[in-house]
Amino acid sequence: MIEIKNLSKTFPVKTGDVAALTGVSATIADGDIFGIIGMSGAGKSTLLRCLCLLEQPSGGQILLDGQDLAHLSGAELRTAHRKMGVVFQGYNLLMQKTVAENVAFPLKLAKHDKAQVAARVAELLELVGLADRAASYPSQLSGGQKQRVALARALASRPEVLLCDEPTSALDPLTTKSVLELLKSINKKLGVTIIIITHELSVVRTICNRMVVIDNGGVVEQGFTREIFENPQSSVARLLLGKEV
Ligand code: ADP
Repeated sequence: MIEIKNLSKTFPVKTGDVAALTGVSATIADGDIFGIIGMSGAGKSTLLRCLCLLEQPSGGQILLDGQDLAHLSGAELRTAHRKMGVVFQGYNLLMQKTVAENVAFPLKLAKHDKAQVAARVAELLELVGLADRAASYPSQLSGGQKQRVALARALASRPEVLLCDEPTSALDPLTTKSVLELLKSINKKLGVTIIIITHELSVVRTICNRMVVIDNGGVVEQGFTREIFENPQSSVARLLLGKEV
């Protein structure tokens, strides 16, 4: 379980402080596919960067199974990093390396032996449906296939939580559908908790069982996706829903 408690993040800039997160609290249960939705500038990326430990929060806590991840350093931070797999918006693939080498990368960094790495890479490429593209380079792949490589790489270290930043915003509707189905099956097969940051309501509606709506750095609504879609309480959720029609 992940408990985000009163999380805040302030960026000091020349013209004064920018409060990107102003006390965000949310609970994400094991096995959830959890959506974080909001308009541009709401604080989604900052929240994701805090959750994947790339950004140190200014205040509050991120409790993963009771351990506060918000203020770790050194070996503890590296161990915590391995519990969080991240798929970034632009995929961040290594262009000079093959699909298999990209997926192997985190395992090699963690000093797994060669045979173990090869077996795990084969298993992961099978899982994401790219077993036949192991020797291809990212430039030879479609957007959806690059997304699958990024997913396989994020899952390599068997994370407890998979964070996806706008996983489908660059994809066409058909590819979006297949990526969302893949995320659903990964959630089911591996039991990994998935957190999806998105501005696309359709993504949340398709796969998230629970969701939070953020606006202006704070939570304006959270709960079961079905209930929020049926009866949105916040003006932002209503606006997002209205916009979709
Ligand atoms: P979203 O992902 O929802 O579009 P962000 O988390 O990127 O929102 O940004 C939230 C707010 O924080 C915005 O006002 C943005 O300008 C500000 N912000 C984000 N990162 C920084 C930064 N590194 N320095 C200063 N301000 C930032």
